[in-house]
Amino acid sequence: MTLEFTDRVTRVEPSATLAISALATELEAEGKDVVDLSVGEPDFPTPENVIEAGQDAMDAGHTGYTTSAGILELREAIADKLADDGLDHGPENIIVTPGAKQALYEIVQALIEDGDEVALLDPAWVSYEAMVKMAGGDLTRVDLSAHDFQLEPALDDLGAAVSDDTELLIVNSPSNPTGAVYSDAALEGVRDLAVEHDITVISDEIYKEITYGVEPTSLGTLEGMADRTITVNGFSKAYSMTGWRLGYFAGPEELVDQAGKLHSHSVSSAVNFVQHAGLEALENTDEAVVEMTEAFEQRRDLVVELLEDEGVDVAVPEGAFYMMLPVDEDDQAWCEGAIEDAHVATVPGSAFGTPGYARISYAASEERLREGIGRLVEEGYL
Ligand code: PLP
Repeated sequence: MTLEFTDRVTRVEPSATLAISALATELEAEGKDVVDLSVGEPDFPTPENVIEAGQDAMDAGHTGYTTSAGILELREAIADKLADDGLDHGPENIIVTPGAKQALYEIVQALIEDGDEVALLDPAWVSYEAMVKMAGGDLTRVDLSAHDFQLEPALDDLGAAVSDDTELLIVNSPSNPTGAVYSDAALEGVRDLAVEHDITVISDEIYKEITYGVEPTSLGTLEGMADRTITVNGFSKAYSMTGWRLGYFAGPEELVDQAGKLHSHSVSSAVNFVQHAGLEALENTDEAVVEMTEAFEQRRDLVVELLEDEGVDVAVPEGAFYMMLPVDEDDQAWCEGAIEDAHVATVPGSAFGTPGYARISYAASEERLREGIGRLVEEGYL
């Protein structure tokens, strides 16, 4: 029997980050010591009180289905958090999902159909492209690499790329893979274009809590943006909860209704006891988040300094835990060589739409970061 697959799946590539991780695991199984700078997850444990809240919730029998949109207490706590950021969404305008990735998937599926145009700011997180393609949409990409990955100096380019045909724009600040935090002037420029061309905007704020001396503005707080912005966030990064799979989106009621149908007919709801743990994460982890962010900031400084010592200049990230390393034009070959020769795993920039770079994640101990960069120097990659 021959299976016939739809264009929707066949035109999507497997995740480049997961492919590199698989290669790293393979080398490790052969007994090689791999410095893995490819991973997109904090190397800190989930805070103890959050784990306990999850265990208590299981003991208390919170193991059945919940309302599809998520337990009311959690949606209320999320609404309070969003209100602190200046966003006005009641619990009825929030859907809790198994991870922010699922939130993004549901929004894109609900809004995009064959031939719809979606604009991305490159380099862009790998799954945006895949999600848009799976929905049948077409991509318009704006390259920020000539501007140290900042959006403000690229606003003219964005203005030239979008039009009345643009349905959706995805903005991710702080950014994966660059760590850039977009200025208020940049976001105001986005607002002006979104209003002029009637574009819906997804503001993916999954790294909002991890910044170094800057406070990123939420796009939805800008005048004219409340009705056209869908804010996405989650628990994976700020609270070191990647494997718990918990995220959410908040947006206009019609979107929540439409995407809510997809949600209820697919995942049903996020895991019950995990939602209870999420409540604890939102309410009682301020100290842990600050400690983790301080550690990331120190590591960022260390990596920037080690690279400077080798004469490599990078755009210094102001958030998240990634930076883009300028490498050979053939970044794919550079990354393959780096893992094979130096046993250092990184992700090619071309996976994010920006060849000529490798993304490094500094969610690793200072010792491993020194070791990794030392090996890249020794093997002639830096
Ligand atoms: N958005 C961005 C920019 C990310 O980097 C990630 C994860 O790497 C996600 C969304 C999805 O996060 P999760 O599904 O773990 O909540």
